[in-house]
Amino acid sequence: MDGRAADRALGTAGGRKGTQASRLAQAIGVPHLSTGDLLRAAVAARTPIGLEADSHIRSGGLVPDRLVLKILEERLAAADCRAGFLLDGFPRNVAQATALESIAPLDAVFSFDLPEELLVRRLSGRRVCPTCQAVYHVETLPPRVADRCDRDGTALVQRPDDRPEAVGTRFKVYLEQTAPLLDHYRGRGLLRPIDADGDPDTVQARLREAVAALGRKAPSERARGATR
Ligand code: ADP
Repeated sequence: MDGRAADRALGTAGGRKGTQASRLAQAIGVPHLSTGDLLRAAVAARTPIGLEADSHIRSGGLVPDRLVLKILEERLAAADCRAGFLLDGFPRNVAQATALESIAPLDAVFSFDLPEELLVRRLSGRRVCPTCQAVYHVETLPPRVADRCDRDGTALVQRPDDRPEAVGTRFKVYLEQTAPLLDHYRGRGLLRPIDADGDPDTVQARLREAVAALGRKAPSERARGATR
C-alpha cells in the first residue's frame, strides 16, 4: 500500500483480528498498533494507566476513552508511525472515532464479519503464552504438548476476559458501542467488510485483496480524510 496506511480492523472480539492485523501490517511494512496489546503491556508494567485499566479489561468492559487515547497518542508519536500504521481494536466507540479524526486520517476500515456462535467458541477456546504472547486454540490450533507453548514451553493461560462471564459482557459492549461504527464508516465510504469465516490464510487473502483494491484507486479517489 502506498502512502499513509492508517487502516484499522473493526472486529468483534475473537474474530482473530489481532492475528490478521499483525500479518497484514508485516506484509505492507507498517507498525501494528493494537490498543488491547498496548493496554495489556501497561497492566503488566504496572504503569498508572495500566493500574487504572486493569479492572475494566478483566470485566470485559471498555477502558475509559481518555486512557486509551493517551496510550495511543503516545504510540503514534513514535518515528515508525510516520509513514503509516495499522490500528487494531481502535476506535471502539463513536467518541473514539471522533477523537481519531483530529489525530490521523484513515484510508480504510476493515470489519471482520463472523456469526455469533462461532465467535463465542473461538474466544472460550483461546489460550495465550504469558511469555511470548503466542496465541493457541484448544480445538483449532492446539499446542504440540497440551497446555504448553510450542516456542518456550511456558504453561498457557486463558485471558481473564475470555472467561464466559466476561465474554458475554464484551459481546454486549460490542453491540452497543462498537457496532454503530459500522454505519459511521459506511457513511463515510471507508468501510470494507471482510468475511472472517474461514481458515486464517483464506481470511488473510481476503484482507490483502481488499488492501490491494485500495491501492488500485487513484489517490484522489481514495476516501482518505473522509472521516474529517
Ligand atoms: P478483543 O478484540 O479480543 O476483545 P483486544 O485486545 O482488542 O481484544 O481488547 C481487550 C480489552 O482491552 C477490551 O475488552 C477492552 O477492555 C480493552 N480495549 C482494547 N481496545 C480498547 C479501546 N479502543 N477502547 C477501550 N477499551 C479497549
